[in-house]
Amino acid sequence: MRVGIGYDIHRLAGGRPFLLGGVVIQAPHGPVGHSDGDVLLHAIIDALLGAAGLGDIGRHFPPGDPQWRDVASARLLERTLKLVHQGQFEPYNVDVTIVLERPKLAPYMATMTAALAKVMGLPVERVNLKAKTNEGLDALGQGRAVAAHAVVLLREASGRAD
Ligand code: MG
Repeated sequence: MRVGIGYDIHRLAGGRPFLLGGVVIQAPHGPVGHSDGDVLLHAIIDALLGAAGLGDIGRHFPPGDPQWRDVASARLLERTLKLVHQGQFEPYNVDVTIVLERPKLAPYMATMTAALAKVMGLPVERVNLKAKTNEGLDALGQGRAVAAHAVVLLREASGRAD
């Protein structure tokens, strides 16, 4: 077994599309970044890379590399999973906390969980998402940013490498 931790935060600005786990969130603002700013997927990618001993997201997908500009983060996650599988590991479960003041994410949780389970090839009961506010404190609490914390457990794959 291997465990990995991941964290990501992006500023929010008006008129940007808001993606979390590849799911569109209806909001007047969205994350700023060279990518789609999907903090949920970015935190999971870092947790996967960490558990596999493969460094971090910036090493594999450098922000300045035009190859990764405007690439959907779900594609980066798929590529990361390939690296994990090549290392003879596979995800067992993932647990995430999203920190966002508004909008409330409750209406999106089931859809995000199902989407994530599909990309990761996991049963939904091993994909757990939690959302909370920052109680009005700091930039997150003032609605100026969105953040995510992820923990992933990997186990040795049963003879698979692709
Ligand atoms: Mg990011």
